[in-house]
Amino acid sequence: MKCLGIESTAHTFSCAVVDRKGKRGEILSDIRKIYGPPEGEGIHPREASRHHVETSSAVLAEALRKAKISVDDLDIISYAAGPGLGPCLRVGAVVSRALSSYYKIPIYPVNHAIGHIELGKMLTGAKNPLVLLVSGGHTMLLAFSDKKWRVFGETLDITLGQLLDQFGRSIGFASPCGKKIEDLAERNHNYIPLPYSVKGNDVSFSGLLSATKAIVNKGVEAACYSLQETAFAMICEATERALAFTKKKELMIVGGVAANKRLSAMLTSICKRQNCKFFVVPPKFAGDCGSQIAWLGLLEASVKKGTSLKNTFVKQSWRLDTVKVSY
Ligand code: AMP
Ligand code: MG
Repeated sequence: MKCLGIESTAHTFSCAVVDRKGKRGEILSDIRKIYGPPEGEGIHPREASRHHVETSSAVLAEALRKAKISVDDLDIISYAAGPGLGPCLRVGAVVSRALSSYYKIPIYPVNHAIGHIELGKMLTGAKNPLVLLVSGGHTMLLAFSDKKWRVFGETLDITLGQLLDQFGRSIGFASPCGKKIEDLAERNHNYIPLPYSVKGNDVSFSGLLSATKAIVNKGVEAACYSLQETAFAMICEATERALAFTKKKELMIVGGVAANKRLSAMLTSICKRQNCKFFVVPPKFAGDCGSQIAWLGLLEASVKKGTSLKNTFVKQSWRLDTVKVSY
């Protein structure tokens, strides 16, 4: 069964074709175009949605061409219906709806965050992991229980991705800044103390952001290093406690920040201590992409029929712990 997955929740417009073969999916194509705001600025929802509108037809055509199929060969279409930026979400929904109604292809609105998790499980082979979802839109610790992904810790304010991006923008970079901060942090391992804030099993990053901006005058590289060490140590403390509490024997990290090698190294040592296996989503599929959406569409299609067009909604705030999972 072949699914076209469309992702447009924030900066990325992506179309992917995934072919389900038993429990596994073969990614036939995954084409992305990423909106880049001007240096020092964040995502402007209207400008990002304009980018998505302008690139959508080329991305779609390339995804079909690379997969060596035509629209008629598709069995289903899925799109990320939320959570995300309203104007951006609507572009993916409109493209999906148009294809579905014209070509009579069943359509599945799916939750973007669960897409990160399910593609991660499929690609890494993790079976029943504690999940650390760290991206532009999420910082959450999750475990599956009784048909839902349950939250065992999350950020109380900005996400880990926003922390890195907002700090990066304050020193003149263009979002996304995580990779640049990682590279700078490698060059100077002089730790400058910063506020560390774990509350229960939740984390709070906003004070850390202000404090890091205030130490840039002591050196950008040391500031990047200290920011990473502090933020990642906070996440690791919450993760280790969640592992001890849930007694999971697997930890999987997904989301754009999963591409960070220092974070993976810190989590690896926690897993050793807790006697648990560590899985990292491959960097190419860590950030937002159509494959996440296509694979989740295929999982949903195994247990339910496509949605009627009048229910092809978008939901800007759609928490993953409200979604009932029955596949
Ligand atoms: P996503 O929303 O899943 O596409 O993830 C985007 C986020 O991942 C942005 O905040 C990026 O700055 C962050 N990111 C990407 N690569 C890295 C990296 N190597 N280290 C830390 N953060 C990263
Ligand atoms: Mg994401």
